[in-house]
Amino acid sequence: MSDNMPTLFTRIINREIPADIVYEDDQCIVINDIAPQAPVHMLVIPRQPIPRLVDATLSDQAILGHLMWVAGEVARVAGVDEAFRLVVNNGANAGQTVFHLHLHVLASKDDRQQFTEAQL
Ligand code: 5GP
Repeated sequence: MSDNMPTLFTRIINREIPADIVYEDDQCIVINDIAPQAPVHMLVIPRQPIPRLVDATLSDQAILGHLMWVAGEVARVAGVDEAFRLVVNNGANAGQTVFHLHLHVLASKDDRQQFTEAQL
């Protein structure tokens, strides 16, 4: 794909491709993954199309922090705030397939139940 082509996620952000949108603000969007790897599988995506985490610069610190905060918020709203995982695949050899930075928010409602029972 040439550099000036919009990424898949930019096309979703621009409503050119449909997606199940969970949350959005002026800096990012959160969608449900089309092929979930867990009962809860959301993608937190900056509007700014940074290709990979390693391509972020010092000037991207604020958006990187915002993505982390949003991940926690959507996990809380999804009811999985006691047990969820964040994954960033950086590079094709690490499994990255869409070269527009995104955080995977992964959780199992069952994990949450086990965690809660373990605290009793
Ligand atoms: P990566 O492998 O790059 O870390 O993650 C890309 C993710 O995007 C995958 O989990 C994949 O299922 C998801 N994905 C790919 N195409 C679409 C799409 O058109 N819509 C949605 N909602 N998710 C997608």
